[in-house]
Amino acid sequence: MSKRFTVMVIPENGEKAHRIKVRRGTVGFVLTTCLVFLGILSFFVYSYFNFQIDAEELRRLRLANAEQRHGLQQLATDVELMREELAGLAESEARVLQLADFDIEPKAVPIAMGGIPEQDSDLAIDELQKQISQLQVAIELRRKSQEDVRSLLSDRVSVSRATPNGWPTKGWITSYFGMRQAPIGHGRRFHEGIDIAANTGTPIFATADGVVARVEFSRSYGKTVIIDHGYGYRTLYAHNSKNLAKRGMRIKRGDKIAEVGNTGVSTGPHVHYEVQLNGVPINPRKSL
Ligand SMILES: [Zn+2]
Repeated sequence: MSKRFTVMVIPENGEKAHRIKVRRGTVGFVLTTCLVFLGILSFFVYSYFNFQIDAEELRRLRLANAEQRHGLQQLATDVELMREELAGLAESEARVLQLADFDIEPKAVPIAMGGIPEQDSDLAIDELQKQISQLQVAIELRRKSQEDVRSLLSDRVSVSRATPNGWPTKGWITSYFGMRQAPIGHGRRFHEGIDIAANTGTPIFATADGVVARVEFSRSYGKTVIIDHGYGYRTLYAHNSKNLAKRGMRIKRGDKIAEVGNTGVSTGPHVHYEVQLNGVPINPRKSL
């Protein structure tokens, strides 16, 4: 093969053709230079586009990160609000206990300080998870404590409902609780209740919730109703003209259980009303 080339340049307007003689080495040099130049150019073009893609990716990641931070901050705020809410609940529980005169402390709730590490999302998530599990423990404690308070209050309500209170009938007291001259016969006797005079047929009401323990007739007390209220309390209503309650009946305070009468040893229509605590008559006047 020849060491030289001839390149013909033929203009289209009919002018004389140019003839250029080129050495083979020169062609190789030019081609190599072109290839190297193309290579460098492609590298730059490739790098440029790559850089663009990286920049886009970076922007996207930054945005996602910012959103995540924002979400975490929001979560931290929610956790903080929950903590405050719980503290508020504990306070109102303490007030309820105070109002109800209970001499107990509500169960304390561990209140850790809030806040999350500023930069590291993983740390922030760990911290939030820790705070959330603390809150779960606190909520469980609060729930138990409220159950205790509820049961204390409901005991208190039951005791209050079972404690004789108020007048068993509309009338006036003719005989008080304590030592007195026996109304019939001689000598002084201990009067174990109070006598409330009223017209025959006047309704007699239970003075507390309970269960009818006895409905009976006795020589001295005549027609009598005895109610067991639990907590050691019993009430007795005697000399009735009519007993309405039946043995074993559940009774609410204010239920009509009998009517005023003059049965048994009695000098006129009245209710002999007696309150017993653990089997011992106590003065009913204190609860009228
Ligand atoms: Zn009496």
